[in-house]
Amino acid sequence: MTEGIGRPTVAVWKFASCDGCQLSLLSAEDELLAIAGEIEIAYFLEATREVKEGPYDISLVEGSITTPDDAERIRQVRDLSTTLVTIGACATAGGIQALRNFGDVEAFRSLVYARPEYVETLADSTAIAEHVPVDLELRGCPIETSQLV
Ligand code: SF4
Repeated sequence: MTEGIGRPTVAVWKFASCDGCQLSLLSAEDELLAIAGEIEIAYFLEATREVKEGPYDISLVEGSITTPDDAERIRQVRDLSTTLVTIGACATAGGIQALRNFGDVEAFRSLVYARPEYVETLADSTAIAEHVPVDLELRGCPIETSQLV
């Protein structure tokens, strides 16, 4: 448990994703109420702007790695987290956006964006476990909230 705090701290992080797994978490009010007293939500921007600084006992990570910034940020998240859990198909397998892995991302970028030079992106969408050690994985699209609880 994080020093100085009585309850385990939980942080929820977003990478390339549709937010659906985080929304599953938010919509599970009944289940969450049952465990709300046992944990402290320290970082969850989808739910609140109130942020407590890390380190965190548990990090839940939604989304895949698609930009150089993502690749750097997930290493920082890993450093801040005792236990890192990836949630959903994006985080565990690269998600639907991993279809780009079979195409030419430069061609897509030029076709889709008026000013492609402003878009920083990696050639592939990759799972979190390809970048940092992951302790647990929860699969599904979206995740089954009861499994998470
Ligand atoms: S796994 Fe599915 S529901 Fe979850 S963030 Fe990715 S696309 Fe959305």
